[in-house]
Amino acid sequence: MMPTIIDRNFDINKLHHSAVSVALRLNDKGYEAYVVGGAIRDMLLGKTPKDFDVATNATPEQVHALFRGSRIVGRRFQIVHVRMGRDIIEVTTFRGHHSESDNKNTAKQGRSGVLLRDNVFGTLEQDAIRRDLTVNALYYDPVEDTVIDYTEGLRDIAARRLKIIGDPETRYREDPVRMLRVLRFQAKLGFDIDSATNQALNDCAPLLAQIPAARLFDEFLKGFMAGHAKPFSEILLQTPVWQELFPDSAQYIDAKVCYRPMLFAAMGNTDQRINAGQPVTPAFLLAAILWPAVEQGLDLALARGEAPIPAMQSVGQDVILRAIERIAIPKRFTTMMREIWDLQMRMDRRRHRKPLEFAQQKRFRAAYDFLSLRAQAGQDVGAVVDWWTQFQVEHPELESHRQQQHQ
Ligand code: ATP
Ligand code: MG
Repeated sequence: MMPTIIDRNFDINKLHHSAVSVALRLNDKGYEAYVVGGAIRDMLLGKTPKDFDVATNATPEQVHALFRGSRIVGRRFQIVHVRMGRDIIEVTTFRGHHSESDNKNTAKQGRSGVLLRDNVFGTLEQDAIRRDLTVNALYYDPVEDTVIDYTEGLRDIAARRLKIIGDPETRYREDPVRMLRVLRFQAKLGFDIDSATNQALNDCAPLLAQIPAARLFDEFLKGFMAGHAKPFSEILLQTPVWQELFPDSAQYIDAKVCYRPMLFAAMGNTDQRINAGQPVTPAFLLAAILWPAVEQGLDLALARGEAPIPAMQSVGQDVILRAIERIAIPKRFTTMMREIWDLQMRMDRRRHRKPLEFAQQKRFRAAYDFLSLRAQAGQDVGAVVDWWTQFQVEHPELESHRQQQHQ
């Protein structure tokens, strides 16, 4: 197939110098190498890319040998991290095989070394068509100063359309995480999804159950901690994908009208903080996502006559155990989630006893922010929030105490 080749039409100075120099260096040594993926897509859209990928016909070993301080990494397939000053450029070898997680092939390739015609390594064209979306399969050639397009990605960028390369169902079956990627890019770029790409999502969503929980947590971070969590969650909630990620949330989110607004407020809050360069923790978002299940479970336990604080602890524990079957939330975050939930019960009861001590504990501020979200979404905790708001105004020393804790 002949690719479309166009002259570069974006500002080369914004295409990271390090990525271009890695590609040029490989070309100097006789290899083919291009800057590829999200960076080219973002450049063509006039956005500033956040990371840079290079694709080459050099093997990982050959790349590693060329760049001092580079490292071969990768669980699912090998890539080389090339360090250039403060930047890390990811260099991948052209792949010709659709299934990247085919262990037999990877092992064979590992023993035999350079195998450009192996069904793992491939040509530029093969590398293009094994990528997920047409708009992610554009290559910048630094020698010719052109953009190479095998998949009509340029057309889809112009049309602001996300289209899976090849048959969407086949490509989702090969790697169900591509469904999450499509929806994440929809949230990030505001593009429409091509109808076949969208249609196949409905049938294929249950395939996400096959994905290891650790990889889903990585994807969770990419989708929710990058400044577009709110649109992403709005989109996910309209698809069967949400249920695959957070079955408990899917089950309880409509148990009260306030749950969706609360979730979106938490997401919007996190987005604002990220876009303002403020620190954020995934624990806060996860605590908000699972709150409907926690609160519903708590109500049941209270109705059975259980005491509030132990009830909250056991419900929190159960909800977390179920959640981590799907998404491997690291322990430090689940601990924080439970602390935030437990404090929801205590904010009210303790406010008249030693409030200063109470407000000095580590998770107070996160718990207070969480309580504020609940109030904002219409839960009946406004008076408690107001009390603590006033209390913090009267005790400005709490802020410096907190800053010391964070040092
Ligand atoms: P971002 O802006 O989030 O970095 P990106 O498109 O660069 O977006 P990466 O995860 O950095 O995404 O991946 C780099 C490139 O690798 C993608 O543009 C795509 O071409 C290819 N790719 C990544 N994941 C997959 C996948 N699961 N299946 C097929 N191709 C993939
Ligand atoms: Mg990228």
